[in-house]
Amino acid sequence: MAIRDILIIPDKRLRLNSEAVKTVDKSLRALIDDMFETMYAAPGIGLAAIQIGVPKRVVTLDLAKKDEPKQPQVFLNPEVVWASDEKAIYEEGCLSIPEYYEEVERPKAVKVKYLDAELRPQEIEADGLLATCLQHEIDHTNGVLFIDHISKLKRDMVVKKFKKAAKKSEAVKPLAEDQEPSHHIG
Ligand SMILES: [Zn+2]
Repeated sequence: MAIRDILIIPDKRLRLNSEAVKTVDKSLRALIDDMFETMYAAPGIGLAAIQIGVPKRVVTLDLAKKDEPKQPQVFLNPEVVWASDEKAIYEEGCLSIPEYYEEVERPKAVKVKYLDAELRPQEIEADGLLATCLQHEIDHTNGVLFIDHISKLKRDMVVKKFKKAAKKSEAVKPLAEDQEPSHHIG
């Protein structure tokens, strides 16, 4: 197991459309292990494989609170097959856009089809934080970032900031000091 580097915007690989998983072999199991280790170390509650530079449709999640036992969940080839008309707003963050948080409106509930680690087809209905996280991570597998769901003005501002930082190879400072980190969704 190893902690891998997390790609940060404007890394173009974050815009790749990831490939479907067809087999679960030793290397895929190692990828999943590394994703959990990287996600827990960040810390984050979700991670998509492309965030560590692997364009495969693999998502890891763990929504357990600090004082609860770990609840690792793996989703292979996850896909939203139904979304509620009702929307919910949640303040999202992303390990690939560190220290930036913004409210995002998404369907409040979704039904997601996926394969488990044994390639067995599964389906779950998710609500609340789980629904938000699944949508956020499935977006990653399609090359979509949460900032694509906010206003163009805000998006342009944050992209510009990260481009500038990448040029200078400097650490990115928070946009505002009053922005308290809540959830690094992943
Ligand atoms: Zn993310």
